[in-house]
Amino acid sequence: MLNLLQTSKVETCNSPAGEANETSERFAGPLGENFKRIPMLTAARKLLPMSRCHVLVVEDEQTIAQNVVEYLEAQGYTVDIAYDGKAALVQLGQQTFDVLVLDLGLPRLDGQQVLQQLRHQLGLTLPVLVLTAREAMSSKQACFEAGADDYLVKPFSLAELSLRVHALHRRATGAMSSGPLRAGPLRLDLRAQQAFVGDKVVHLSPRCLKILEVLMRDPGRLVSRAELEEALWPDGPPDSDALRSQIHLLRRALSQEGFNGVETRHGLGWRLQTADEA
Ligand code: CA
Repeated sequence: MLNLLQTSKVETCNSPAGEANETSERFAGPLGENFKRIPMLTAARKLLPMSRCHVLVVEDEQTIAQNVVEYLEAQGYTVDIAYDGKAALVQLGQQTFDVLVLDLGLPRLDGQQVLQQLRHQLGLTLPVLVLTAREAMSSKQACFEAGADDYLVKPFSLAELSLRVHALHRRATGAMSSGPLRAGPLRLDLRAQQAFVGDKVVHLSPRCLKILEVLMRDPGRLVSRAELEEALWPDGPPDSDALRSQIHLLRRALSQEGFNGVETRHGLGWRLQTADEA
């Protein structure tokens, strides 16, 4: 887990403070080590199940694009890249995507024009997250009016980007229904905050319930330490072992009722085994 903990702290794309020109976006400091990290994630990706969420990342800065793609792929998403606005529209017209991550400063066709065309000419309703260095309210307003669903300003954390992509996909697929979550023998009644293995009640603390909820929302998906820590402690975990302790408690409680499907991927995160793996 140490690798993940350390990398999660440095996975931030930095641009000079107040810099409005997107061409100056660059990775700073520890991210010079990007390409050392990628082989680990690439190796991990081979172990992952097929993703159910297909993301198109439109970004002309190759280093940023590559880091976003590697990060999302390591968490089980299927990701394609377009490096300019026209290429993005061609791909959007040819394939079905679940979420679009869209830079604004793009060659050939500006991101805002891409947004307008995909909504009005292609008639696409997929969720769009705008990822840009433009932090002016006028830019945000124009994007939301043109049909954006979310807006993230660079520099950004890859963990936060992933959380937002996940939330957009979840909302678009209606997974936020108030009915209980089910995964194999597990059932989680969110309204009553009560978990079950089969018909046996599992007594869990609120934090363990939250971990279980995140895992059960997408069984099979690898969930990173950063994502779980952000879900449990938005202001930061009390210490580096806090999450591990909570996972241990969750696993022990589930195991007492006969469920052992919370899988650890060392250095990467956790996932809930799917019904056909159990
Ligand atoms: Ca750009």
